[in-house]
Amino acid sequence: MNDSGILQGRTKGKSTLRVASNDPYSAELTAEQIGIIADIAEKFGSGSVHVTARQTIEIPDIELTSINEIKKLIKNSGLYTGSSGKYIRNVMACSRWCLYNASPLSDLAAQLNRKYQGSELPGKTLISLSGCDFSCTRSRTSDIGVIARTKIKITDKKCKQCSLCVKAPLCCQMDAITITDEGAEIDTERCVRCGFCTKICRPGTIAIDSNSYDIFLGGKGGVKPREADFFKNVKSEDELVKQIDAILAGYIAVADDKERIGDVIDRLGMSALEIKDE
Ligand code: SF4
Ligand code: SF4
Ligand code: SF4
Repeated sequence: MNDSGILQGRTKGKSTLRVASNDPYSAELTAEQIGIIADIAEKFGSGSVHVTARQTIEIPDIELTSINEIKKLIKNSGLYTGSSGKYIRNVMACSRWCLYNASPLSDLAAQLNRKYQGSELPGKTLISLSGCDFSCTRSRTSDIGVIARTKIKITDKKCKQCSLCVKAPLCCQMDAITITDEGAEIDTERCVRCGFCTKICRPGTIAIDSNSYDIFLGGKGGVKPREADFFKNVKSEDELVKQIDAILAGYIAVADDKERIGDVIDRLGMSALEIKDE
């Protein structure tokens, strides 16, 4: 049995059960799912839950003998018990409601979560998808981190000098935009390609040129933290999924037991995780 999700509890004889969602999203819970979790905590636990940093829920003080009954309760609810041990952690994504999220990745996160949930890997593996460079889901300290990039362009649509893009609260957070008598200018050194300005510029003076994704590998937190290394930029979600498939396949092929992706990179180099031509 895949008993991922059952953690030893602090209360003698009790366990903590980790519950996560994989439908419709891995990075959020529906009101119905919250209700089911509340029922489980009241009926089988202590009435409280812990919201983890990794967008999962932990229900403490569960008797192991209740697990099958709990599994029946969550069946067909889009919830699952898991996301611990050597199994893939719940795939994280930014809030779909964040103003800065020019490229929401919640669908992709859920797709990856469903695809890999229950697959055993050599070690703990965190995948985090961020909608912009602020990296609220900590993509640079995850084993596989993705940051969406939105390249912008100045179009021939006349700037109305409204100043929305340069004055708080909706301004560019990087001070990368200057408004002159001739219109908008972008400092490409400062711009982190979040794409936010394209959403607030009503005349369309600043518009999206292209979307892409930066992939970072080998990040981790803990007692020996490691910042992820930039791996590559890909132009589409399909290519991103293909790359993540290949990275995980490479990881399974070369990693020692309990070795994280960052440890593999330090031992063998990034190329050990590259897609090999057939
Ligand atoms: S990383 Fe960007 S898009 Fe994601 S939640 Fe943070 S600010 Fe919003
Ligand atoms: S100028 Fe660049 S960094 Fe600033 S809001 Fe636009 S895309 Fe984001
Ligand atoms: S670039 Fe757009 S948002 Fe910025 S001042 Fe001009 S019209 Fe307003």
